[in-house]
Amino acid sequence: MPSHTEKGRLAIVGLGPGRREYMTGRALDAIAKAAYIIGNDSYLEPLEPLMAGKNIIRSSMGKEVERAKQAIDLAKEHAVAIVSGGDAGVYGMASIVLEVLEHSGTVIDVEVIPGVTAANAAASRVGSPLSGDFAVISLSDLLTPLEVIEQRLDAVFSVGIPVVLYNPKSRGRPHNFALAIEHARKHLGPETPVSLVKNALRDGEEIIITRLGEIERVEDAVDMHTTVIICGNEGRIWRMGEHVKGIITPRGYHRKYVY
Ligand code: SAH
Repeated sequence: MPSHTEKGRLAIVGLGPGRREYMTGRALDAIAKAAYIIGNDSYLEPLEPLMAGKNIIRSSMGKEVERAKQAIDLAKEHAVAIVSGGDAGVYGMASIVLEVLEHSGTVIDVEVIPGVTAANAAASRVGSPLSGDFAVISLSDLLTPLEVIEQRLDAVFSVGIPVVLYNPKSRGRPHNFALAIEHARKHLGPETPVSLVKNALRDGEEIIITRLGEIERVEDAVDMHTTVIICGNEGRIWRMGEHVKGIITPRGYHRKYVY
């Protein structure tokens, strides 16, 4: 028989891009009510002011399965919050926690609390590049084979929608970004707008607007804290006066209205 407990509770919390004002009220509430908070050091830092009197379990990248098991064990008896940056369900901890939970047969009160994911955080800093359909691809081949990533890149670029690249580069795989650009260039012209947003909505934010044909000039700015948006065939540069402000992908109102 699965064990059941009234006391325990597990919240899988998306913390948003970093600063506290971009967390949801529900996420703040789950942190406030938790006796245990489990997460990666870099995510916990902005939460310091909320963590007094709580048991903090800091874990490192690459230990996600252990972290999930530990969270579930503790949640049989205690209120536990396991935290991920952005949204926990987007390249985050939610799926592994739910898989381990299902496999263990444990019955507990579990809630996934959404957060502002990097695609939304980055898009908000450059205007409105993701106004309609768009795709999100991670260039990390740690958990997905590179051939599969390449197939997906080819498929999404071929239909001309904006593509958001997560995990564009890291020391372990510096070449995947160049590969993604090659796939983009098969389907999109050199004028296609591209934005690079590093550390969106948190300290160290940097924003670059460029074009697909010129991306090599700014490639060094791309790192593991950057989200790249390659516009589809409808995106254009957004100007205010003389200044390039960002990117607009029109939703299509111009086809129906005069403005
Ligand atoms: N769960 C997270 C994504 C984790 S994958 C989310 O929903 O946002 C890690 C990748 O997310 C990074 O390599 C980077 O591409 C992107 N990322 C996360 N936070 C970011 C931020 N504040 N600014 C820019 N990119 C970010």
